[in-house]
Order: sequence, then C-alpha cells, then structure tokens
Amino acid sequence: MKFGGMIKNSFVDYPGEIATVVFTCGCNFDCWYCHNRSLIKQNQKKIEIIEENEVLDFLNKIRKMIDAVVISGGEPTLQKELKSFLIKIKKMNFKTKLDTNGSNPNILKELLDEKLLDYVAMDIKTSFEKYSNLVQKKVKTEDLQQSIKILMDSNIDYEFRTTFSPDVTLDDIRLIVQTIKGAKAYALQKYNQPDSNCPAPHNLVVFDHALEIAKQYIDNSFLRSFD
Ligand code: SF4
Repeated sequence: MKFGGMIKNSFVDYPGEIATVVFTCGCNFDCWYCHNRSLIKQNQKKIEIIEENEVLDFLNKIRKMIDAVVISGGEPTLQKELKSFLIKIKKMNFKTKLDTNGSNPNILKELLDEKLLDYVAMDIKTSFEKYSNLVQKKVKTEDLQQSIKILMDSNIDYEFRTTFSPDVTLDDIRLIVQTIKGAKAYALQKYNQPDSNCPAPHNLVVFDHALEIAKQYIDNSFLRSFD
C-alpha cells in the first residue's frame, strides 16, 4: 500500500488519543472545497509517495509514543490493500480509525466484522438530493445510507461530520441530522475557503443556529475547528 502523506503526531484526529495519520491517494468524490486536492487523483507526479514499509518502520520505532493510527485520504476504502494494512496495524496493538466518505458500505462492513476498526468518521457532505452537485460526481446515496446504518448498528465509536460549506443550508443540516437521529456523535466542521475566489463561510450566528438544530436530534453535536 502506498500513501500520499503522513502526520507523525496528531492530538486532534482521534478523539482522546495521540495518533499518526496516513493519507491514501485517490478519491471517488471531487468536493469543490477539498483541501487534499493533490491526493484526489492517484499517481499524481507532484505527490511524494510513502511506501507502506516506511510507515510500518516508523510506527515500530514510535509504538510506545502513540496510541492509534488514522487512515485518511483521499478515500481509503478504494485501496485494495487497506484490509491487509489494518491487520498489520492491529498486530502492532494500535487503535485504528478510518476516515471515509461512506461510499463503500460493503468494505466498511467487512472491516467492522473483522474487528479491524475502533473508530470511524464518516462525512455527510449535504442533504442527499444535493450530494452529486457538491461532490461533482454521480453518487449512489443508497450506499451512503447503508454505511450510516452499518455504523449506527455497530458497537464501535463513530462520528458523522459535515463541513458547513456555504452551499449547505440550515434546511440541509436539518435533513442530515434527521437521517442520523440518535447517532453517537455529530461534528459541524468549519469550512476553510480554498482560495479567495470561493464563496465566504457562513457567519457564526448561522453556525450556532445549525448547532441548535443538530442538538435537537443528536445530543453529542458539536462545532469543530473553531478557535
Ligand atoms: S471526499 Fe474528502 S478527499 Fe474526497 S474530494 Fe471530498 S473532501 Fe476531498
């Protein structure tokens, strides 16, 4: 398995744990605000590829200093070697977290059934009817709904999260949280303008209103990445 980037020590990517974060290349979505754009297309020449052995050697050296490994992307479930990589990580006694866009429910279920994941963060980009527009790809929303159900039926820790970009409205937030009513956790994440030509973020009053709506359906709703 190859990676397009790595954060050696992170205190914010796995709740309550110190983690190393690795980023896989390639994504089946193309969200217009994506900040990992260089990772979206696999084999981009600009990316410095990190081989799996390098990651495993590094983890072996610092295994007493970190608790967990986060596999982010890109979209990690596109990688054929994801399962075998997770098996190696679990053998090293690390906790594992997967960041996913939820488009591969079968793989998600297989990894959960084999107890290879301790935490999953799944993006819910917007309300289902607006999805394909935001992610600039045709999306099978039934797959997303299936992934949501798999996580909500599971025994592991998980969160759903929405980047509150300017094209996501309060009505969208209401539709999202109605879909995941009673979920363990829901994060409303700050949108960062990719560049100054992109639309400005919602103001904080709108964020507070969105959080109020979310809390009506999910007790553990919170804002993320606000100073
Ligand atoms: S799903 Fe994530 S990695 Fe893929 S395009 Fe969207 S923001 Fe970028």
